[in-house]
Amino acid sequence: MASLIIFGPPGAGKGTQAVELSTRFAVPHISTGDLFRTAVAEQTALGVKAQDYLDRGELVPDDLVIDLIRERLVQPDTQPGWLLDGFPRTVPQAHALDELLTSIDRGLDRVINLVVPDEMLLERLLGRGRKDDSEAVICRRLQVYHDQTAPLIRFYGDRHQLTDIDGSAAVEDVTEAIQAALDNFLPG
Ligand code: ADP
Repeated sequence: MASLIIFGPPGAGKGTQAVELSTRFAVPHISTGDLFRTAVAEQTALGVKAQDYLDRGELVPDDLVIDLIRERLVQPDTQPGWLLDGFPRTVPQAHALDELLTSIDRGLDRVINLVVPDEMLLERLLGRGRKDDSEAVICRRLQVYHDQTAPLIRFYGDRHQLTDIDGSAAVEDVTEAIQAALDNFLPG
């Protein structure tokens, strides 16, 4: 059983680490970014609403994201837990997650915060070449992160649920550091 959040700025390596961790803990990797990109590619009703926000590097409105997560966290594969990647990204989303977890009688084991300096994020994102990775959009996403998402470090830190991990190290070293940190907090 593990209910985890992988947190950090765009380009911190959340997705890469999430794949490792979801295998190790046998829990589904739930990436709101991936869910939105799939919805956009398939032009579902959600995708049509989200597309413009993704293209501009803005956050999708909270109510759309919260509905998406609410539906996802009641799927049967989340019984052993989950790994959230890209959610919550705003304080209202974090409050909504609290309410949702209470309503389904579940807890949160740990929030892993990947710490990477802005210069390195910019370099990594420019090298990645995803559709929303043009320089102007990347800069906007970093700014949105600092304005709207970084306050969650305090939110979870005050509740003693947050572990900082140096995300600037090599991929395998980051994975090892996360696993070592989680060994202290997870039963078994
Ligand atoms: P990155 O990790 O590079 O920031 P993601 O794949 O997590 O990228 O997200 C891509 C985009 O999807 C975001 O820029 C945003 O538009 C949208 N998105 C993803 N998760 C959320 C969320 N929790 N709230 C609002 N928008 C989101």
